[in-house]
Amino acid sequence: MYDENNIFAKILRNEIPCDIIYEDKFNLFFKDINPQAKIHVLGIPKFKCVDFTDFVNNAEEEKIISFFKSIKTVINKLRIQNNGYRIITNSGIDGGQEVPHYHIHILAGEKIGRLR
Ligand code: AMP
Repeated sequence: MYDENNIFAKILRNEIPCDIIYEDKFNLFFKDINPQAKIHVLGIPKFKCVDFTDFVNNAEEEKIISFFKSIKTVINKLRIQNNGYRIITNSGIDGGQEVPHYHIHILAGEKIGRLR
């Protein structure tokens, strides 16, 4: 079940600020408050969606396509397509998801180390 009080829900309701990188009708991208790389951007769909499974199972196809295309737009905007980047989705307890609103991390701007 979706937690209306999660931090990204509050960002979407403009109850707390964020540093926006890109926004369109369905999607919002903003800087991570605790960056793990020189560039660390989070991307979220603007509708209630708990995690990746919820997103692919329940979001309308148009919105799924829009989300992934918007990631590409942000990669171009950040000018990281040539040097590279890492996209991460943490999901559930084992995945270490802290905020229960589906999101992707874009990490870039330097060599991103191995996960372990
Ligand atoms: P995850 O562990 O995948 O759920 O990642 C949640 C991310 O949200 C972490 O990298 C946090 O640093 C980030 N975060 C938490 N609160 C905020 C906030 N108010 N603005 C931007 N990023 C945030």
